[in-house]
Amino acid sequence: MTTYDAIILGAGHNGLILQAYLGKAGLKTIAVERRGVVGGGLSTAEDPRQGGFFHNTHAFFLRAITAMPWYVDLDLARHGAQLIEPELNVALITSDGRALEWWTDIEKTIASFAALSTRDAKTLRRWHDAFVPIVEKILSPEVRSPPLPPHERRALLSRTSAGRRLLEVSALSPLEFVSQEFEHPTIQAGLLFFNGLREVDLRLKGFGHHIAALIASPAKAQMARGGSAVLARALEAAVRKTGGEIALGSEPKRIVVEGGRAIGIETRDGEMIFAKHLVASSLNPHQTFLDLLDQNLLPREIRERAQNFRYNLLAPLFSLNLDLTEPPRYRASEKHPELARAFMVILGLDHAEQFGEIVRHHEAGTIPPAVIWGACPTLFDESQAPAGRHTAFMWEKLPYRVHGDAANWDRLREEHAGAMLQVWQRYAPNLADAIIDSFARTPRDTARELPNMREGDLLVGAFANDQVGYHRPFPGAGQYRTHLPGLYLCGSSTHPGGNITGLPAYNAAQVIFSDVGLAADWLPAPIAAQLAV
Ligand SMILES: Cc1cc2nc3c(=O)[nH]c(=O)nc-3n(C[C@H](O)[C@H](O)[C@H](O)COP(=O)(O)OP(=O)(O)OC[C@H]3O[C@@H](n4cnc5c(N)ncnc54)[C@H](O)[C@@H]3O)c2cc1C
Repeated sequence: MTTYDAIILGAGHNGLILQAYLGKAGLKTIAVERRGVVGGGLSTAEDPRQGGFFHNTHAFFLRAITAMPWYVDLDLARHGAQLIEPELNVALITSDGRALEWWTDIEKTIASFAALSTRDAKTLRRWHDAFVPIVEKILSPEVRSPPLPPHERRALLSRTSAGRRLLEVSALSPLEFVSQEFEHPTIQAGLLFFNGLREVDLRLKGFGHHIAALIASPAKAQMARGGSAVLARALEAAVRKTGGEIALGSEPKRIVVEGGRAIGIETRDGEMIFAKHLVASSLNPHQTFLDLLDQNLLPREIRERAQNFRYNLLAPLFSLNLDLTEPPRYRASEKHPELARAFMVILGLDHAEQFGEIVRHHEAGTIPPAVIWGACPTLFDESQAPAGRHTAFMWEKLPYRVHGDAANWDRLREEHAGAMLQVWQRYAPNLADAIIDSFARTPRDTARELPNMREGDLLVGAFANDQVGYHRPFPGAGQYRTHLPGLYLCGSSTHPGGNITGLPAYNAAQVIFSDVGLAADWLPAPIAAQLAV
């Protein structure tokens, strides 16, 4: 039996970030992680058949990591993290060889829009300029803070012109916003694709501001030098520096509750680990509330809310990973030579109506016409393949329960990988002779490897109106606290949600520091005070 100040369940990036903050404040911590490595979705694996080729099997496009408060607070650059931000950040290549490009420089992005529609280029500039202050003063502070109750938030936003503008645009759905504001079908499709990256249902009212925010955001896609796992290792080093322990290959069997308070865990091996202050779970609500807590002691409404927590229909990904003798050379680069240095490349997307079709296929569990996106990491970081060689990958959103059952993925894997390669080769014919080896991963593989990503939902919970903000994951467990004193949530099922943002953990740390009475020099001003000016 060992006693710590804090136990963290899961050593993905959110678990590690919370652990490092608690350790920095002098707490004795341990993280319990079922896999043999830390990092969760920050994972880089060597091709077992081809030494020296490294693939990022989950997260690769890391959004504005260097601008994240925890990146600075935890000194991750000193712990070995290095991020690369390619200038031609995203390129959508159409089936007839045109390109719509997003650059780190907004003027170049506007010029690319203008090549398709001068009206849309002007609209882009207008929304960019209108939303820069909204992102800076409202949206960016909001994701970095525990959320406010909806009525309080609305009242505060109603007091400023930027706040009122935000409320007005949010009332729309992303689809309404794009179809009202932009005219060119490829531009509409490209903008909705970005909305889809956050997996927000494009028909849902309440999210109309998403695309304007993405247009105005300075946060661009980055990649970690050496692979995504290098960022995980930097977080691990930050934890170890504080004396934090990480138990790998260990899984909690139950959360121990005594006198109405979470006081520790029992592992599957029968080990008892106690915590003086808290247990924080980065797992999903099904795991935390239904698998790990004694159901006889769980209030009925909490059990029902955990059972009803929903996962994203459109999040699961299929990936095709290639080892190559040379990078993909896109036909379109004859007219657009800059595409040779494009970071994220989107293929198969020409017009916005395709999204309706993709949603219908996901609802039916069938395979939609291919829209794929990916990158050639070695164009920017040679260390991920042997000298002169390359790696590249493409992702596709596909239903978890394909033809009614996720188990079908095990027999469809190779067939679908072949179909995806055919699409990719139509755009980059040189791939036919450049492939040394390949492997594919299915939505079922994701859920098997990271069971917190239930149903293959890599964002760990749908972004629907009742599962965002103050009530994420559900009423009674929002704001990182649960119904049980001493039990907290810190993973992607909490505000602001999934992806490599580390913000669920950063916000959970703010709540826990306040509850435990820990001092910190990194705490941001309360969000209500920030929104009031
Ligand atoms: C194919 C794919 C591509 C992606 N691409 C991107 C991308 O490009 N950019 C981006 O930002 N995001 C991407 N994501 C999403 C991103 O990886 C996740 O949203 C993110 O990893 C969630 O972080 P987390 O710390 O909350 O959870 P995780 O990273 O999943 O970490 C949770 C940890 O808990 C552990 N765990 C689970 N169950 C238990 C248990 N019972 N006991 C103990 N430990 C347990 C897991 O092993 C894991 O280490 C991608 C995900 C996938 C699957």
